[in-house]
Amino acid sequence: MAKKQSPHIFERLALIGIGLIGSSIARVAKRDNLVGHISVSARTQKSLDKAMELGIADSVSLDQKAAVKDADMVIICAPISAYQEIIEAIAPGLKPGAIVSDVGSVKQAVVRDLGSHIPEGIHLIPAHPVAGTEHSGPEAGFPELFTDRWCILTPPLGTDEKSIDAVEAFWKAAGSDVEIMDPGHHDQVMAMTSHLPHLIAYTIVGTATDLEKTLRNEVIKFSAGGFRDFTRIAASDPTMWRDVFLNNRDAVLEMLQRFSEDITALQRAIRWGEGDTLFELFSRTRDVRRGVIEAKQEKMYD
Ligand code: NAP
Repeated sequence: MAKKQSPHIFERLALIGIGLIGSSIARVAKRDNLVGHISVSARTQKSLDKAMELGIADSVSLDQKAAVKDADMVIICAPISAYQEIIEAIAPGLKPGAIVSDVGSVKQAVVRDLGSHIPEGIHLIPAHPVAGTEHSGPEAGFPELFTDRWCILTPPLGTDEKSIDAVEAFWKAAGSDVEIMDPGHHDQVMAMTSHLPHLIAYTIVGTATDLEKTLRNEVIKFSAGGFRDFTRIAASDPTMWRDVFLNNRDAVLEMLQRFSEDITALQRAIRWGEGDTLFELFSRTRDVRRGVIEAKQEKMYD
């Protein structure tokens, strides 16, 4: 009799970190039966207890090396500043042939931090699901987070094709569209589409909080005028975003330089009453919004 094929993409998945992203992966993997067993490690016992209570982990351990034992796929879902410590802890416990992946929002630094610690016979396939919210922790996740969102893979040249296919199959099954990219290119694209907008939101909200009290209160009261949308982005996790800017410094500084030049040009147009300049820019940006909607990227969580 022919051996029955397992429906799972991976028999054993280990997640290091069970916050917004880790718990969303666990939820979709459980809901759609993508893996046979989910083993979870995190920094605190409290998060591990919560993962068990939510039914999104089959086993938990504060010992990261123990958590990755026998795992076919390990996904690091922790802040980038913790990667070094995590890879040093898990490397000796990895099963030969296992895949090590992650979800970090920056990719060149990840290849640098993880690459040199990956043992012989282990496949490193960094990934970035371009999906998120401003919420954190195991309770913040939901299984639809990755639906119709991009997941970018940045495998080093020469990575085992079968392993790349398996990671791609996993993310597609989780609802994502998958694209393979060079890590440096990923970081440049994200500097513009994600990192700079967050920096601007943090700045605007920061400027508002520095205003004198009466003006500040009015800003909050009438926030629907535009400020409100910035406050959502500026409520994003401080640890994660500190790490993004420290680890994608060059690309962010380059985009910031371009932005500063453009804002100076707008400042000049306002000062000299150049309405045509303003109107022309605002018309072009309206078309960009249409393009975003057509590309199905307008969901509120990202
Ligand atoms: P989160 O909700 O704050 O969760 C982080 C998790 O990492 C927690 O479970 C935490 O454990 C664990 N952790 C922290 N330090 C650790 C360590 N030294 N060893 C083991 N586990 C550790 O964060 P998140 O939003 O899921 O972000 C995780 C990663 O996803 C980041 O690298 C980020 O760049 C990337 N990402 C985030 C978004 C987003 O919008 N949030 C989008 C795409 C990618 P405790 O709970 O026990 O503290």
